[in-house]
Amino acid sequence: MSHLPAELLRTLGEIVGPAGLIDDPAAMQAYLSDWRNAYRGRAALVVRPASAEEVAAVVRACYQAGVPLVPQGGNTGLCGGSIPDDSGHQVVLSLTRLTRIRDVDAGNETITVEAGVVLQQVQEAAAAVGRQFPLSLGAEGSCTIGGNLATNAGGTAVLRYGNMRDLTLGVEVVLPDGRLWNGLRGLRKDNTGYDLKHLFIGSEGTLGIITAAVLKLYPAVRSRTTAWVALPSPQAAVALIGRMRALCGDRLTGFELMSRQSVAFVLRHVPGCSDPFVEEHPWYVLIELSDTLPEAPLNAMLETGLGAAFEQGEALDAVVASSEAQVSALWKLREGISEAQNHEGPSLKHDISVPVSSIAAFIAQADERLQQAFPGVRIVCYGHVGDGNLHYNISKPVGSEDEPFRAQAEAIMYLIYDVTQAFAGSISAEHGLGQAKREAARRYKDPLELELMRSLKQTLDPTGLMNPGKLL
Ligand code: FAD
Repeated sequence: MSHLPAELLRTLGEIVGPAGLIDDPAAMQAYLSDWRNAYRGRAALVVRPASAEEVAAVVRACYQAGVPLVPQGGNTGLCGGSIPDDSGHQVVLSLTRLTRIRDVDAGNETITVEAGVVLQQVQEAAAAVGRQFPLSLGAEGSCTIGGNLATNAGGTAVLRYGNMRDLTLGVEVVLPDGRLWNGLRGLRKDNTGYDLKHLFIGSEGTLGIITAAVLKLYPAVRSRTTAWVALPSPQAAVALIGRMRALCGDRLTGFELMSRQSVAFVLRHVPGCSDPFVEEHPWYVLIELSDTLPEAPLNAMLETGLGAAFEQGEALDAVVASSEAQVSALWKLREGISEAQNHEGPSLKHDISVPVSSIAAFIAQADERLQQAFPGVRIVCYGHVGDGNLHYNISKPVGSEDEPFRAQAEAIMYLIYDVTQAFAGSISAEHGLGQAKREAARRYKDPLELELMRSLKQTLDPTGLMNPGKLL
């Protein structure tokens, strides 16, 4: 039996129809845990409106009844932001039926899409008009544009194109009281006061429900070259990215760092992956150059850059992909890490960022302190060098049990965050705070910054019904 008042249930049913309400406990399960099964909650109901107007009506009805809402997109977030608490009193508001691509304006280089459109479908719609939408991440076949906006998603192309904040020109938002704000302006210049869209981007559903957005399109890539390079150290990676950037400018679109441990897990657990080299090396980078010209001299640039890197001892070995199949195989080595780590017991995930110039020193210090305090833990470090963003994840020591390792999770996390803070870094580079990092944010964020965030929340959502218990 739902905890909701009968009148609210009836109203919601009238708004969304039978196809838009899920109250059967078995059918609700898919909405109550995240993809890793790290978070699990209960809900009074799952509501699935099919248009912005329906979202507005649902939010208004819940506002009037004082019922809290948890917005949910593809449910691929890594911080438990889209999962309700275990009270059973919250309503999950799924946006996955808002699937319209409302407009493609090739002249303005924009696409207007609803919040439930899956990222890959936006990429495909852009390709259909000879453009690209460059946001790219491992979950792109399931995550939604609304979720991407609410988390200010990053991914592998931030180095060249920026994160979701940089790729968005306008948003449409249902405010906590149910009013619909149409901020769908496709303007690259608009200095008419506060840029309100940025309040909602990265707000993890705590200030309102994003129902649609105007996104930037870019010229399609017509040539690409991808290399897998072995390196002696993270310091060499920082030197190499500087070298490649100076040589290639914006053609450098990907530069992904991986430790041997990360790659070893992929080789062990992800079917069809093989080591491009005979010898093992301590670190690897995946470099991607791309251009809008079909015949751009990318291989020549790569060879020049790598040639100098070999001379300086920054690179130890390299292979350049010679077919699309090889390109996919190299990216699979990178994108398989998260999944592969799950096969090695509990993975403690830390998505941190530091200034690019501090990456090597951060890794050295975090590695040393961890191995002293928690001997034998396996460090799975990989990330986006150009963004200073490292996924500094930890697996249990070989042969140890899960539970004692899980019991150390908080101490391990705070050790890593202390080192992050010592390098003026962030405890969440791209995944957000959700419920996973809410407490930690209190410890590491400037109190004045937190106070400003709370006063914004109070102004927009005074009754606290938007995704309670997340972020703040
Ligand atoms: P959900 O998980 O459903 O929700 C995420 C948050 O947004 C929640 O707080 C939710 O309440 C809120 N929300 C969702 N929709 C709306 C809406 N319409 N309005 C308001 N609030 C809303 N992230 C990266 O940034 N970079 C990566 O490289 C990356 N790689 C990943 C790889 C894998 C294999 C996986 C599983 C995840 C990865 N992620 C990455 C995390 C995740 O994919 C992103 O956070 C994504 O943006 C979440 O989108 P979603 O639709 O699944 O959102």
